[in-house]
Amino acid sequence: MSAQQFYGSQYRHCAEVVAYTFFADVHCVACTVETFPGIEDGKSEHVDVEGNPVHPVFFGDEFADEIEENYFCGTCTEKITI
Ligand SMILES: [Zn+2]
Repeated sequence: MSAQQFYGSQYRHCAEVVAYTFFADVHCVACTVETFPGIEDGKSEHVDVEGNPVHPVFFGDEFADEIEENYFCGTCTEKITI
């Protein structure tokens, strides 16, 4: 593996979205994409029914660690695994 490939994959890993927050809850990526089609491209703004923005949680965020310990998806109730 070249250095460029290595750093390229590192970057992708760090920028990986592991969950989203909306409806005052945490939701897994699969359910979020189902609820907000197209959100995974990260290019458009999405808001929930209350008008609050849908926030992505990225791998490596402090909140991501918390999610891994304590959170279940607000839509499908599966434990969110990171
Ligand atoms: Zn889910």
